[in-house]
Amino acid sequence: MSNKKIIIAIDGFSSTGKSTIAKQLAKELNYIYVDTGAMYRAVTLYAMQNKIIANNTFDQQNLIDALPNIQLQFKFNPELGFAEMFLNGTNVEKEIRTIEVSKLVSKVSEVSKVRKKLVQEQQAMGQEKGIVMDGRDIGTVVFPDAELKLFMTASADKRATRRYKELLDRGDNVNYEEILHNVQERDHIDSTRKDSPLVKANDAIEFDNSDMGLKEQFERIMSLVNDRL
Ligand code: C5P
Repeated sequence: MSNKKIIIAIDGFSSTGKSTIAKQLAKELNYIYVDTGAMYRAVTLYAMQNKIIANNTFDQQNLIDALPNIQLQFKFNPELGFAEMFLNGTNVEKEIRTIEVSKLVSKVSEVSKVRKKLVQEQQAMGQEKGIVMDGRDIGTVVFPDAELKLFMTASADKRATRRYKELLDRGDNVNYEEILHNVQERDHIDSTRKDSPLVKANDAIEFDNSDMGLKEQFERIMSLVNDRL
C-alpha cells in the first residue's frame, strides 16, 4: 500500500450502518474516524441542558448566541477503539445517543450558524487527510473534493430495527414504533432542510446494505479504497 492518504466521506440516512463501516475502515487504514452526528447531538444536548430547546419550544437566537460557549472535543478511548464525544470537558457519549436527543437533533441541525461552526471544525480535522468522516453533508459540503464518497441506504424497517437493538443493548427503555417514527421524521427533516440537505453527491457510490452482510460490504469498499491509493 502507498503512503498516500485520502479522505473518505460517508453520507446517508439515519442508521444505515455508516458508523460501523467507517470505524472498520479507519481501523484497517489507521485513519482518524469522525462521527459528525455526535457533534450535532452534543450541541442539541447543550441546548436541552440550558432549556434552549424542549419538545415544543426552540429559541434559535439563544442557541446562536451560546455557540461560542460550546466546546466540542473527540478523545480516543483505546479500550473502545474509537473516540468519545466531550462537551465542555465532560464525556457525553452516552447521553447524546438517547431517544430524547434523537427527537430534537434534526431541528438543531437546520440552523445555519450551527452548521457553519461544525463544518469549520470538521474541515480543520481533515487538513492532513487520512480521515473517515460520516454524516449527511460530508461529500457535498464538508469535503466536496474527497477522494472517495459513499452514500449508504437501507430500508426504513431495517434501519429502525438496527437502532432499536442498539438502544436495547444499552439498556434503554425503548419502543420500536417510536424509533421507526423518529428515523423517518429525521430523514424527512434532514433531506428537505434549506441548508446542506442530505443528498447523494453526484460522484458518490451508493450502497444499499438492507441485505448485504458486513463482510461483503467492507470488502467491496476496501477495493474502492485501494483503487484510490
Ligand atoms: O448520524 P446521526 O444519526 O447520529 O446524526 C444525528 C443527526 O444530526 C441527523 O439526523 C442530522 O439531523 C444531523 N446531522 C447533520 N449533518 C451531519 C451529521 C448529522 O445534519 N453531517
